[in-house]
Amino acid sequence: MKFHVLTLFPEMLKSALSAGLVGQGLKKNLLQVETHQPREAAEDAHRSVDDRPFGGGDGMIMMADVLARVLEGIRAQGPTRVIYLSPQGPRLDDRKVRELATLPSLTLVCGRYGGIDQRALNQLIDEELSIGDYVLSGGEPAALVVIDSVARMLPGVLGHEESAHRDSFAQGLLEHPNFTRPRQWRGQSVPEALLSGHHGRIQEWKLRLSQLVTLKKRPELLAGLAPAERANLRAFWREMSPEERQACGLQGLQEEDFQRFLGTR
Ligand code: SAM
Repeated sequence: MKFHVLTLFPEMLKSALSAGLVGQGLKKNLLQVETHQPREAAEDAHRSVDDRPFGGGDGMIMMADVLARVLEGIRAQGPTRVIYLSPQGPRLDDRKVRELATLPSLTLVCGRYGGIDQRALNQLIDEELSIGDYVLSGGEPAALVVIDSVARMLPGVLGHEESAHRDSFAQGLLEHPNFTRPRQWRGQSVPEALLSGHHGRIQEWKLRLSQLVTLKKRPELLAGLAPAERANLRAFWREMSPEERQACGLQGLQEEDFQRFLGTR
């Protein structure tokens, strides 16, 4: 997959993308990232890319004609989805990440200053995307979030192919707690099911713990769970010892949470 990034600060992306799984994916050519400096498309001697807003106000506005020259150059390379990273867009989520990962090419436009001229947004951009309800000083951190999250969905980027299907949100749930050696640490033990060596039991435990963690942290994600499954989940939770609940980070869950969950309260 090819990412084009329109940015005034390409160095911010280059160092961040050289590390970890994405860096390895780039080395293996599983994805490519090309940055485009809008100053190179500026036409005046000062290489201006922005100007004062009409009507006054703080912050310079990135000029439509400069953005057009860059984006038309990128589109000339082949079809691409052009996304303007913006606090005003719909928020990025797992569903969107998976959709973007199916595209052959994505162009991310990083705004700076007060943002971009509305006419550029109207005529050059396919969609807006936000990474949260807060304002960054530029789109580069948001572009890194998009590239990182989308890259992990590309074949070969993750070491274990199935990880992307087990991580939080993949199946509409948060991931179960994870443990590694030692078996005992500061008075807390690794749950017995995980040490049982029994595949079926381990899978059942992981599913139930995913559901319990989701109930505790993001209960709205369980809205579609059938009543019988809700009752099964409570039965599983009731059988856990207080020590195991604590080791799994579930100590906040109470009987009343299940009564609400089962609609009996
Ligand atoms: N004046 C704009 C507004 O109030 O909507 C904010 C401009 S912001 C200071 C500069 C740039 O940062 C934006 O053009 C956008 O590219 C990027 N940006 C800021 N917050 C963002 C967010 N939550 N998600 C994605 N990009 C963001």
